[in-house]
Amino acid sequence: MLPFRGGTMDKNRCMVCAKEGAFEGGVCDLCKAIIRGEALEGQHQIKKDADRSLHKEGLDLEKKTHG
Ligand SMILES: [Zn+2]
Repeated sequence: MLPFRGGTMDKNRCMVCAKEGAFEGGVCDLCKAIIRGEALEGQHQIKKDADRSLHKEGLDLEKKTHG
C-alpha cells in the first residue's frame, strides 16, 4: 500500500457547478459547453447537429432492414 495522504492534488472543483474532478481550466466539460454555447449563442447549431445525427442513424437502420 502506498502512503497516500488524503490530499486532492489531482482534483479540482468546477468553478461553475462546484462538481469535483480534474477539469482543464477549472470548469467541467458540461459547464464548458454551456459557457461556449452561451458565448457563441449557437444552441441552434448544436440542436441541428444532433438532429442530423439522428437522421443519419435512421437512414442507416433503413439500409440495414433493406436487404
Ligand atoms: Zn461544472
